Amino acid sequence: MTAPDAVADTIVAISTPPGRGGIGIVRLSGTQSASIAVQLMRLRSPLQHGHARLADVLDSPDWGTEPVPDSARIDEALVTFFGAPHSYTSEDLVEIAAHGSPVVLDLLVRRALTLGARLAEPGEFTQRAFLSGRLDLTQAEAVRDLIEAQTLTQARQAASQMGGSLSRRVQPVKQSLVELIALLEAGIDFAEDDVDVTPQAEIARRIGEGMPPLEALEASFARGRIVHDGLTLAIVGRPNAGKSSLFNRLVERDRAIVTATPGTTRDTVTERISLDGIPLDLVDTAGLRGGVHESLHEAEQLGIQRSREALADAALVLIVLDATQLLNDEERGLLAAVEGRPALIVVNKSDLAPAEKLATECAGLPVLLTSALTGEGIAALRERILALATGGAASESGMLTSLRHHQAVSSALAGLADAAQANANAIPHEMILLDLYRALWALDSLTGQTTPDDILNLIFSTFCIGK
Ligand code: GDP
Repeated sequence: MTAPDAVADTIVAISTPPGRGGIGIVRLSGTQSASIAVQLMRLRSPLQHGHARLADVLDSPDWGTEPVPDSARIDEALVTFFGAPHSYTSEDLVEIAAHGSPVVLDLLVRRALTLGARLAEPGEFTQRAFLSGRLDLTQAEAVRDLIEAQTLTQARQAASQMGGSLSRRVQPVKQSLVELIALLEAGIDFAEDDVDVTPQAEIARRIGEGMPPLEALEASFARGRIVHDGLTLAIVGRPNAGKSSLFNRLVERDRAIVTATPGTTRDTVTERISLDGIPLDLVDTAGLRGGVHESLHEAEQLGIQRSREALADAALVLIVLDATQLLNDEERGLLAAVEGRPALIVVNKSDLAPAEKLATECAGLPVLLTSALTGEGIAALRERILALATGGAASESGMLTSLRHHQAVSSALAGLADAAQANANAIPHEMILLDLYRALWALDSLTGQTTPDDILNLIFSTFCIGK
């Protein structure tokens, strides 16, 4: 990681995805952006902050101001200049929107390199925005999350974090922590000058104030994590119970093959759905039959093997029973196997048989009646899956979505708890301060002030080039 004042060189990258597109964008950032842009293309009018300018990309940069024949023109581009500090990176920045041909975009980048720019590292534009203080680390990370969002809820969550929702929740706690530290430091520094020593009860009160907001933040990870990462739900049960039909009901289209012959879902089929904005990977497994039967087709055996793996890997399990059949040993085994795991049991084909009989067999376990044929119970099933996935945690603003953030908040809380304990034990203020500094350091690492360079590099390396 380069220090902010060393970020003087100008970087260039293609910011649109690889391949062809209607347009493709090349970005330049750094002090030389504008002067390089002027030499890259022939601008039809001078660059001006925040204004788009038409330009011709010529086959050679050597035309100077001479009139050029049409044959010398390779592309027409729209060039927008943003002057420091009013740009994404806070530096001079130029965006060149050309037609999205990889050869044209490559030509622009190569030409920029000969004019003194260097290729940007992954995430370097955003890293510069961070280094200049325009974004804090949680906001910079949100940029990456926004680009990677697969559901609108994920996008909304990332956009709110990009707008500073998480930092705003941390800021007041940090502020009062800094005040308490200053108070204790003053007490130590001026002990001989009759500065009042902060009373123990006052210290306890101040430490106590910082904990509930951090605890709420820590708890928000329960929902934030699954909004960010999603979950996997494996649908298991005997062949023909209606797993594929339920899968299709949940996916709302005919993705898995449904037939009346047992054992058709030979491999696992996975589809991502969004349940109240939470990305859920549904895995439709081959029917689980106990043991591996000689008579089974090889592909089917492979499918059963995959089902077992899917069952082992999934965060949530949906066991599908057939209302027209009595429980068999394998199903009893399955019910026992998921004990203690987040699992739902549905008795399907409720349109064909009174399912109560089967339901009573699943002693103690809550079951849901469904009919994949008529749709009965499907809405309730969605709700139950959602409740199981979220553990009832509601959505809120500024949720913690990454393990890094969660760890930072947890260690801040641990620092505060130790400080409270030390204070209760009337331990010297020098020692209490160590715990308070630990809490402060953890909060600062969350927003980026004290995040070690190797962690920063790791974070920005997960960005795409050009962002
Ligand atoms: P899987 O082997 O568990 O995936 O079961 P399928 O989804 O392939 O369904 C097996 C058969 O049962 C098909 O003929 C489905 O149309 C039928 N089926 C599935 N669910 C229901 C249901 O709720 N009611 C009725 N009557 N038939 C169903």
